[in-house]
Amino acid sequence: MSFDSKNYEYRPGLLKNRNILITGASDGIGEALALCTAQLGATVILHGRNIKKLESVYDEILALDGVARPSIAPMDLATADSDAYRSLADSIAKEFGQLDGLVHNAGILGEKLSIEQYETIEWQRVMHVNVTAAFALTQVCLPLIREANDPSIIFTSSGVGRKGRAYWGAYAVSKFAIEGLAQVLADENRHTRLRVNCINPGPTRTKLRLAAYPAENRDKLKTPDEILPVYIYLLGPDSQGVTGESLDAQ
Ligand code: NAP
Repeated sequence: MSFDSKNYEYRPGLLKNRNILITGASDGIGEALALCTAQLGATVILHGRNIKKLESVYDEILALDGVARPSIAPMDLATADSDAYRSLADSIAKEFGQLDGLVHNAGILGEKLSIEQYETIEWQRVMHVNVTAAFALTQVCLPLIREANDPSIIFTSSGVGRKGRAYWGAYAVSKFAIEGLAQVLADENRHTRLRVNCINPGPTRTKLRLAAYPAENRDKLKTPDEILPVYIYLLGPDSQGVTGESLDAQ
């Protein structure tokens, strides 16, 4: 599905009274999305693994005018066990009573190697953080998010998750898997209010992109702020009825 990001304008307060959990909110696209959704009225639950970085995003949000107080949810997706997922979901239910949006944004690149050279341990690490963690978090959040009036789950894909490319190894395969997870979940919930979609951010100026392309001219890349309209569209009421789609942010 194509999305006309240039002509999508969002109004102030679009996400008012929505509680939105964003994974990987300590940096890059997740950080920019956290600030933007807070500015649009959402209460943002900032997930990440680095408490110092999360506190700094928390402070940036509080420094904005008239925003709801965010919350911090630290959890390392590489090592979290089922109790950690359960207690994250329970604490959201207890503190907020409602979850309207879940953005699976956290991700790692892993090694850029041929399949022949790829180490199994690295393969498992990338698949775990990029796919299994998103599955586990979705599962514990589903009962709560399904109760919301207009709930939305977003998974983060990539161009290499739609067409495989040499040397992108587990990262590319994990993004194909994320597209599959989103489609299965969307289909299972097609008779509910819950919408489930994927976004491919496209080349964006973050530390992940720098690791993938250390020599490229970064000035030509979109900034995280510039690619947010499709995220806001999918989190807000304008996308009601849109589910099972994979959209490009650029
Ligand atoms: P980024 O700047 O590296 O941010 C990634 C976020 O994920 C950070 O907050 C990071 O935390 C968090 N994270 C990584 N491993 C984690 C773990 N084990 N536990 C908890 N949090 C963890 O990358 P980005 O470019 O914004 O990427 C965001 C998403 O977009 C990813 O899913 C990526 O695959 C996708 N994407 C990006 C591009 C691009 O060009 N940038 C293109 C296509 C798709 P720390 O701050 O602690 O590292």
